[in-house]
Amino acid sequence: MALNKIIIITAPSGSGKTTLVKRLVARCPQLEFSVSACTRHPRPGEVHGKDYYFYPIDEFQKLIEQNAFVEYEMVYTGKYYGTLRSELERIWHDGKYPLLEIDVKGAMDVKAKYPDNTLTVFIRPPSIDVLRSRLTLRGSETADAIEERIEKAIFELNSADKFQQVIINDDLEVATAELLNVVEDFLK
Ligand code: 5GP
Repeated sequence: MALNKIIIITAPSGSGKTTLVKRLVARCPQLEFSVSACTRHPRPGEVHGKDYYFYPIDEFQKLIEQNAFVEYEMVYTGKYYGTLRSELERIWHDGKYPLLEIDVKGAMDVKAKYPDNTLTVFIRPPSIDVLRSRLTLRGSETADAIEERIEKAIFELNSADKFQQVIINDDLEVATAELLNVVEDFLK
């Protein structure tokens, strides 16, 4: 069985992280995406159990009471997100390494709980303007929600130095190669 290592990727919403994570998982078969629980509604095409476990808020609160989360948080107003302990254990049990795509606070909480076996990677967007246009192009959030995401992104960018590795997602090919490199190095 693989050692209980954890890889965390954090990046502001709209930084292109989801594409990067998909490419990383496709090229590194030892990794498995850790599906978070959340209380926001699915976007078109998102699937329960694949993108997130989508729960109504009362069910999410029950899971909190049952101590089911390694970390959880209200990431956006009224919207909880959390990492299920059962998800990490399932992946380790399958002999793989969980890849968590979570925010700064979640990343720091997991790192504090598993300090020696967790790699934290921060993905920087090339600029806030690029971030804004990616969020606007995606078209899945209202103008207010986009502003909330940008405010959070600015806050998160100031936390990049708390991470072990920082990768700039300017050129997708270059960023994928860099990410693969640091992850493979950590898993050696
Ligand atoms: P989105 O709604 O765009 O899918 O995700 C919004 C934010 O929630 C992202 O910054 C993402 O990293 C964060 N997030 C997703 N899952 C989790 C989780 O399990 N825990 C925490 N703390 N943040 C999460």
